[in-house]
Amino acid sequence: MSRPIRGRVDLDALRHNFSVARRYGAARNTRLFSVVKANAYGHGLVPVATALADLTDGFALLELSEAIALREAGIQNPILLLEGFFRAEDLPVLAEYGLTPAVHRLDQLEAIEGAGLPVQLPVFIKLNTGMNRLGFTAATLPAAQAFLAQAKAIGDVAYMTHFADADDPRGVDWQIQRFDALVGDWQGTVSLANSAALLRHPQAVRGWARPGIVLYGSSPFADQSAADLGLQPVMSLESEILTVQELAPGERVGYGGLFEAQAPTRIGVVACGYADGYPRHAPTGTPMLVDGRRSRLLGRVSMDMLCCDLTDLPQAGVGSKVTLWGGDLPADEVASAAGTISYELFCAVAPRVPMTHVGGQADGA
Ligand SMILES: *Cc1c(COP(=O)(O)O)cnc(C)c1O
Repeated sequence: MSRPIRGRVDLDALRHNFSVARRYGAARNTRLFSVVKANAYGHGLVPVATALADLTDGFALLELSEAIALREAGIQNPILLLEGFFRAEDLPVLAEYGLTPAVHRLDQLEAIEGAGLPVQLPVFIKLNTGMNRLGFTAATLPAAQAFLAQAKAIGDVAYMTHFADADDPRGVDWQIQRFDALVGDWQGTVSLANSAALLRHPQAVRGWARPGIVLYGSSPFADQSAADLGLQPVMSLESEILTVQELAPGERVGYGGLFEAQAPTRIGVVACGYADGYPRHAPTGTPMLVDGRRSRLLGRVSMDMLCCDLTDLPQAGVGSKVTLWGGDLPADEVASAAGTISYELFCAVAPRVPMTHVGGQADGA
């Protein structure tokens, strides 16, 4: 038999979460780019996109190969490339597959103009309103706009920006002010909101929103749980107990002996390690479920194994099901115990973990 670790992706929950995002955008008729970068946050690009295709207005991702994979899977929705294109040689591919790049440098506009494409390419002009990663600023935007005014090869233009603090008290108003100052009286398409802004900052919900993490059932906020937001968990990571060890007081477990038993301790050895994507920096105490009951990580996570505490779970043994996250154990809770965010847990699930997709039909069949 194969190693018992596996991922499970509930596409009905994904569709439910999309409907939650839709509700937040409904008041302003906001269209939604479902963000499916990084293999749909580790959930499986094509199954996720296929399950959302009849609901979403578009998809947003970064990798050209993944955008092509969506088209080849029959996805016809608009596709936005969030980091644009990386070299001019890719432009004919964008035109062929009907992909819309974000553009953040003047030389990229020049490259489109000079590419001799058979069709006009639509663009989302990315504005830097304070994140200071990508985008035009007050200093660089006028030249781009002058170029756009005379460009022949560039089709529909939209303006977008990305928020640095939509999930924390600094909020979005300072960036919206900069955005509005940059675009002036622009009446065309805009795109501002990520998940956090969509859910918490109605003033940012205009044009196209770009929800990612909420679709996958996690909360973008430290102070509000996914369940409180009406979101359902989509991915669960499950494995089994391989063997049981009984530790006497003073014995230690795993590399570095980080956990030392103070009392007789019953330990389950689980087929899951950092090579599966479980965070190595998760400390003793990080929660997990064994047969649906709460347990906790003990000692250091190894490459292929980790240990959990079965002292209070006498019925658990070899073959007991271990849920690393998902179901009744929010990934957000595991992430917070491990000092990270659920985004990272999801994206890190390794290719060697088989991922099964269930549900996802329009009629719930
Ligand atoms: C990843 C990303 C998003 C989605 O962010 P979430 O916090 O997952 O909703 C939106 N916009 C851009 C530009 C992104 O890179």
